[in-house]
Amino acid sequence: MVDAVRVHDTIEGFRRALDGHRAAGATVGFVPTMGYLHDGHASLMRAAARHDAVATASIFVNPLQFAATEDLGTYPRDLERDLALAEAAGVTEVFHPTVEEMYPRPVLTTVTVDRITRHFEGAARPEHFAGVATVVTKLFAIVGPCRSYFGEKDYQQLAVVRRLAADLSVPVEVVGCPTVREADGLAMSSRNVYLTAHQRAAAPVLHRSMVQTAEAVAGGARNVGALTAAIVARIADTDGVDGVDYAEIVDAETLEPATEVGGVQRIVVAARFGRTRLLDNLALETPRR
Ligand code: AMP
Repeated sequence: MVDAVRVHDTIEGFRRALDGHRAAGATVGFVPTMGYLHDGHASLMRAAARHDAVATASIFVNPLQFAATEDLGTYPRDLERDLALAEAAGVTEVFHPTVEEMYPRPVLTTVTVDRITRHFEGAARPEHFAGVATVVTKLFAIVGPCRSYFGEKDYQQLAVVRRLAADLSVPVEVVGCPTVREADGLAMSSRNVYLTAHQRAAAPVLHRSMVQTAEAVAGGARNVGALTAAIVARIADTDGVDGVDYAEIVDAETLEPATEVGGVQRIVVAARFGRTRLLDNLALETPRR
C-alpha cells in the first residue's frame, strides 16, 4: 500500500520528519520543484522512491530566481493535483512552505557559482542562478544528508547544483536524470501551458534540430560553427518561433563553448515563442580523433 503523502509547511516540521527517518536507518531522496508537476517531475520522484527508502519533494515557487519582469505572479500552480501526482510517484513527505516561512527577513546571504553561470541562462537572466543556488543550498540545509534528484532538462542548473554541493561539501549526492519528452520530442515543462496551439506545434523543432545535429556529427560533420549555425537556422525558420537566444555545443561539465567537436559535450538551445522561453539540450558524445 502507498503511504498517504504528508505535507509540511514549516522548516522545523519537515526537518524533524526527515531526521526521524534517518535515525530509523532510512535513506532520504529529495526532489526540489516549483510545482505544477508533470511526468518529468514524476520521473525524478520515481527515481527517488526506487533508490531511497523515503522519497520526499518540495513545492516552492522561489521568488529569488525570478527577475521583476518575469512570470513569478502568473507561474502556474495546482497543489491538489501536485500532491496526487507526487503520491502516485511514491513521495511520502512534501515540503510546501510559504514565502514568509522561507524568507522571513530580507535575504543578505546568497550563494553564487562563478564561471559555469556566465553564459546561456546566466547571461539571459542575470540574477537567476544566484536565486537558484541560494534556495537549493537552503533546501539542502533543511533536508540534511540525502540523494537529490535533478533533471538534465535544466542542464546548466544541474551543473550549478553539482558544483555548489561539491564546493561547499554539502552532504548531498546530486543525481542527474534524463529529460522526459512528449511524444513529438518537446521536453516537458510547466511553462508549456503558456504556448498557443501554433507555438506548441512549432516547439518540437528544438529537439528535432539537435537530433539532426547529433546525426550530422555521427555522419562525420565536425565544424562547430557550421553545425550551430544550422541549428539556429532550422529553429529561426520555423513559423511560430520569435527568436533564438542561443544554440551552442559546449563542454558537458564546464559548459564552456567548444571550438571543436569531440569528447563528452552537450548541445544547448533556447528560443522564444511569444513571451515564453523554452530551453532544451542533448548529449553529444564523439570519440576524439
Ligand atoms: P521546476 O519545477 O521547473 O523547477 O523543475 C524541478 C525539477 O524537475 C528540476 O530538476 C528540473 O530539471 C526537473 N524537470 C523539469 N522538466 C523535466 C523534464 N521534462 N524531464 C526531467 N526532469 C525535468
